[in-house]
Amino acid sequence: MEKTDKTKIYLSPPHLSGYELKYINEAIESNWIAPVGPHVDQFEKEIAHFAGTKEAVALSSGTAAIHLALLLLNVKKGDYVFCSSLTFVASANPILYQGAQPVFIDSERDSWNMSPQALEKALKDARTTGSLPKAVIVVNLYGQVAKMEEIVAICNQYSVPMIEDAAESLGSTYKGQHGGTFGCFGIYSFNGNKIITTSGGGMLVSNNVKAMKRARFLATQAKDRASHYEHSEVGFNYRMSNLLASVGRAQLQVIEERVQAKRAVFNRYYQELADIPGIQFMPELRGTRSNRWLTVLTIDERSGFTNEVLLGSLEAENIEARPVWKPLHMQPLFKGAAFYPHSELEHVCEKLFYKGICLPSGTNMTEQEQNRVIECIKSHVKVTTP
Ligand SMILES: *Cc1c(COP(=O)(O)O)cnc(C)c1O
Repeated sequence: MEKTDKTKIYLSPPHLSGYELKYINEAIESNWIAPVGPHVDQFEKEIAHFAGTKEAVALSSGTAAIHLALLLLNVKKGDYVFCSSLTFVASANPILYQGAQPVFIDSERDSWNMSPQALEKALKDARTTGSLPKAVIVVNLYGQVAKMEEIVAICNQYSVPMIEDAAESLGSTYKGQHGGTFGCFGIYSFNGNKIITTSGGGMLVSNNVKAMKRARFLATQAKDRASHYEHSEVGFNYRMSNLLASVGRAQLQVIEERVQAKRAVFNRYYQELADIPGIQFMPELRGTRSNRWLTVLTIDERSGFTNEVLLGSLEAENIEARPVWKPLHMQPLFKGAAFYPHSELEHVCEKLFYKGICLPSGTNMTEQEQNRVIECIKSHVKVTTP
C-alpha cells in the first residue's frame, strides 16, 4: 500500500535543545521575569563572546536592533540609507521608521548578496550629487555572508558606516570571522524560524562600547539619571525579557550542532538533486562557511518545470516551501525608491526571485521527511527512456 503519511513539513521550525526548561525554571524561581535580569546579562555576554565583539545588547527583535543601529548613526528624516534589495522587508522598514529614504542595491551571483560593483556605482553617484547615505545595510542572505572585504573597503573609502543584517546568519563565518561583526553594528534575530530562537528576540552587537551604552538607554525608554522619571529624548521599549533570554542561552549552547545539521540537510539535497538539469544551488562563497539557514536553489528552463509549479506540488504534499524574497525595490511599499543593478544588462536579484525556491530546512527534519521533499521534486523530472 502506498504510504499516506502527509504530516506537515515546515520550512524552518523551532528546534528545542532540551536545556530550555532548566533555564526557564531558574528564571521563574528567581522571580526574574522582567526585561532585566541575570539571564539577559549572561545571554549578552555569551553572544558577544561567541561572535567576537566587545558588546551585545539583547532586544525584543532583530527589527528593533536595526532600528537602534540607525538611531545610533543619527539617521533622520530625509537622510539616505542604502540597503540590499534581496531581503526580508524587516531589513528596510526601520529606514522608514526614521523617515529616511532607502536606495536599494542589487546582488551578485557568487553570494547572492550585495554587489560591491553596484554599491560602488551608487556611492559614486551619491557623492556627485551630495547625497551620500548615513548608513549601508548589508544583508547576509539565507546564512551566507556577503563579500565583506570588498564591501568594507568601499564603505571605508566613502566614510559611510555599515550595518550588517546578520539576522539569518548566526554561526556563519567569513575567513574565520563571524558574520555580523564586519560593520559598525551587527544584528541577529531569534525569531521562531531562525537557526536559534527565543520565540522572538534580537541582538545588537558592536565594538563601540559607548554606542552600546546608548543603545541600552534608548531601548529602555531613554530614562535620564534621576529617580523621578526624567526624560529628554524619545525612547523605546525594546529590551528582551529575562525569561526569553533564558531560552536563548539554552539555544546558544547547541548553535554549532544546529549549523552542522543545517549543512547536512543542504548536503543531502545537493547529493540527490544537483544532477537535475536546470537546478542550481545557492553557492557558498570561497573562504566562508554558511550556516545554510535555508537550502535555496534556482530552477531554469532546462529542467522542464518552474519554481511555481514545484511550489504548488509541494504544497499539495503538505510541504512548506517558499519563493526567494521578493526584492524590495519591486515592492509597492518602496515604490519610487532608487535601485542600483549589478549591471545594466543583469538585474541579479530579480532573476533569483523569479527562479528561486527555498526548501524545508528544519534541523529537526527526519531523513524520511526530507525524502518526501526530494521525491516530490524528482517526480517532476521527465524520465527519458533509452
Ligand atoms: C528575520 C529577519 C529580520 C528581522 O528579525 P525579527 O527578529 O523577526 O524582527 C531582519 N532581517 C532579515 C534578513 C531577517 O531574515
